Amino acid sequence: MNKLFSIFGDPVSHSRSPLMHNSVFKNLNYDACYTRTRLVDGDKLRETFFALGLSGANVTVPHKEAAFKACDEVRGFAKSVGAVNTLVNENGRLVGYNTDADGFMYAISEFGDIENILIIGAGGTAKALASRFLQDGLKVSVLNRSESSLEYFKKLGCECGVWSDFHVKKYDLVVNATSAGLSDDRLPAPIDLVNSILENSNYAADAIYGKLTPFLKMAKEKKMTYKDGADMLLGQGVLANELFVNFELGKEEIKTQMRKSFLL
Ligand code: NDP
Repeated sequence: MNKLFSIFGDPVSHSRSPLMHNSVFKNLNYDACYTRTRLVDGDKLRETFFALGLSGANVTVPHKEAAFKACDEVRGFAKSVGAVNTLVNENGRLVGYNTDADGFMYAISEFGDIENILIIGAGGTAKALASRFLQDGLKVSVLNRSESSLEYFKKLGCECGVWSDFHVKKYDLVVNATSAGLSDDRLPAPIDLVNSILENSNYAADAIYGKLTPFLKMAKEKKMTYKDGADMLLGQGVLANELFVNFELGKEEIKTQMRKSFLL
């Protein structure tokens, strides 16, 4: 096998990334294989990457900020968010990118006009989304469980709050960018607050994919239009794969093959 790729995370057993990337490699005859690696300690990311002899990797919860620190060079959008989800081995140098936010823009483009967004969560994904939304001139509010992670968003000019002091307004779109609901049945905020937010929002989206989270279940019960993280996953995956194969394969072909893996 010519090239080996992996996804790093904890947990990582739920990840569809191996299926997605292997579908592209296999069907487009690209000599590579993509595996998964459970990594508990983010500080070990760099040494594990090189010990496994990887050509590239994706990084998921909770190591995107550790991945940013592990890089020799960070390019593009990842620089402004301090979080990396894609790593490429360039002649022994670790180069980092962030393809999450563009993947998300692709997913919500189907919702139509969006101007006012509430993000629940303040981790790597929330940072990437907020910066990307602001780049497009959208209005962004952020609600998080703990105060300490909100500093970044206050500096960007977002309206911020924690569960106890949050004043709900009207939103075109509310996004769950927390990991609540990923491997448990939690809501991203207390139920009354989530209820009030959904009552005041037009659309709901969750970054989590492959299951109806308690958050989306509530949106569904309210007959809202919603999306899970599958399209976001597809978008970020296509952009990451282009980097892995150094743009040797066509974007549309990558997307077609990757989408097929969603049916498996
Ligand atoms: P981080 O670990 O960086 O951040 C986690 C965030 O979730 C923090 O704001 C944290 O709050 C909050 N949180 C965690 N547990 C709870 C809880 N029980 N209740 C309320 N808030 C909670 O994670 P990421 O930003 O990397 O990822 C967030 C989610 O997005 C994950 O579920 C991940 O799977 C998903 N994702 C999906 C993608 C896709 O392609 N579909 C791509 C990227 C991510 P606090 O600050 O208080 O700790």
